[in-house]
Amino acid sequence: MKVARFHAPEDIRIEDAAEPVAGPGEVKIRVRNCSTCGTDAKILKYGHHHIRPPRVMGHEIAGEIVETDAPGWSPGDRVQVIAAIPCGTCGECRRGRMTVCPDQESMGYHYDGGFAEYMVVPAKVLAVGGLNRIPDGVGFAEASLAEPLACVLNGQELARVGAGDDVLVIGSGPIGCLHVRLARARGAARVFLADINPDRLALAADRVRPDAAVHGDDIVEQILKLTEGRGADVVITAAASGAAQEQALRIAARQGRVSFFGGLPKNDPIIRCDSNLVHYRELTIVGANGSSPAHNTRALELIADRSVPVADLITHRLPLTEVLDGIDIVSRGAAIKVTIEP
Ligand SMILES: [Zn+2]
Ligand SMILES: [Zn+2]
Repeated sequence: MKVARFHAPEDIRIEDAAEPVAGPGEVKIRVRNCSTCGTDAKILKYGHHHIRPPRVMGHEIAGEIVETDAPGWSPGDRVQVIAAIPCGTCGECRRGRMTVCPDQESMGYHYDGGFAEYMVVPAKVLAVGGLNRIPDGVGFAEASLAEPLACVLNGQELARVGAGDDVLVIGSGPIGCLHVRLARARGAARVFLADINPDRLALAADRVRPDAAVHGDDIVEQILKLTEGRGADVVITAAASGAAQEQALRIAARQGRVSFFGGLPKNDPIIRCDSNLVHYRELTIVGANGSSPAHNTRALELIADRSVPVADLITHRLPLTEVLDGIDIVSRGAAIKVTIEP
């Protein structure tokens, strides 16, 4: 079978590999869709300290079971696989905080991922409820977006996005688009979308229809104007930008919540924060680190009942042999979502 393997930064190869064999309690799937995201672009460029090469990449996975002895699962079942695998037994996991499990492992990092025709789902994934049945009416490509949507759901739960909120999303990539859609599903009053790249913003705004799409150097002023001077109840930075995080703190309304959803480059993670803004305006700053198995299950439900439509966010479908082109399209911001069909 064909796989896309990471060997080193700037060295991902399409290779022939033997089909993997499912061990006891494992599930072998025929991968139907594995979508690409900014993380794949980052791995291609810089590698990742958790990846032991050579490693088959791909972590937004949906497919069909072809072989298993795991109870409750049979060949032919359509399934979606979590990306981040919590241990399920540590103190954080026992407290239900699986997104911050210190022993977390990941598909495509510690285990071979979905840029392959066949893949084995480790027993560890099943043990934490990380294999989800795809509801009828949901295609494999849509189901592969349950993983990024699960991360977005975790972020909005932590930022308490709810009815009547004015929400600003900074960054109009696929994650930003999912944030706009989910905020609407959670009852936000108005949702604004901002980006420094006007072309990418236009592409995204055309699909997700924010109440306003803003770009330029004066995002803070524009949002204050749009919100009658109040600012946004929730500001989500879906961009690896310290400048965006600093802006977010200045645009948040009183008792607003600021989600630093996107991480910063590890060589430049320090920002300037006016602590008195946080103090007097009673701001809450939250992070977001991936998603739990339960978030994945819920995300699939949100896709299935059309609360968060995702099909129209998939702008490119490519075969496995073109995975590098896919990652390149993602890095250039020329797509919303690129999915690989191995
Ligand atoms: Zn991803
Ligand atoms: Zn744990």
